[in-house]
Amino acid sequence: MGIKTNLEEIEKKIGKICKEKGIERNAIQLIAVTKTIDAERIKEAIEAGVSVLGENKVQEILGKYDKIEEKVEWHMIGNLQRNKVKYIIDKVDMVHSLDSMELAREIDKRAALSGKTMDCLIQINIGQEVSKSGIDCDDAESFLNEAASLDNIRICGFMAIAPYIEDKEKVRPYFKKMHELFIRMKMKGHENQMLYLSMGMTHDFETAIEEGANMVRIGTGIFGERNYSK
Ligand SMILES: *Cc1c(COP(=O)(O)O)cnc(C)c1O
Repeated sequence: MGIKTNLEEIEKKIGKICKEKGIERNAIQLIAVTKTIDAERIKEAIEAGVSVLGENKVQEILGKYDKIEEKVEWHMIGNLQRNKVKYIIDKVDMVHSLDSMELAREIDKRAALSGKTMDCLIQINIGQEVSKSGIDCDDAESFLNEAASLDNIRICGFMAIAPYIEDKEKVRPYFKKMHELFIRMKMKGHENQMLYLSMGMTHDFETAIEEGANMVRIGTGIFGERNYSK
């Protein structure tokens, strides 16, 4: 199937859930995950309505950035090494993967030098998986307080990657737990920082939206299976 058809399918699904939940379609942001996808196909997706691109490697952003002339947002959704922040500070509109104070301080410093404020989501390790990065749920509030004290970072919410489980009903509790944390932080006076809850990928985005995600990151569902061998 083509990119346009794939996007239409996804739009249909998002639209249906929005209707059921009684929310506007534009309350949900779709991030097209473009890792391993070349500029030509990214342009095809932009043509079909995509306006936010999600990449997980600094190198890939640098390789594609100048090839995409269209006005889009670039989101860094993957693990970000401190020594690479300087390369993307002027290119990226949001970092979804803030997972340490060392990284926060580096982003803050580079953003200050660039005269900008970087929007960041705190990545939470919701499944407490050793293989995944992210802040522990229990440490989220203290991390939020500390990171929010930096002048050139704007904390805008949380990001989470649920454990990969085929059965959607078994993933649901993870999304529920994330949404509870999001709401709890809102109620504790952080409503200005709890704007986005980024969770849900190709295989679980519907469940994620049902449970309160307002940003979903979809790659395979738009572009098909990725080819890592290139
Ligand atoms: C690759 C990736 C996605 C998209 O995964 P798909 O299953 O292809 O939709 C979402 N989030 C992150 C952090 C990713 O690295």
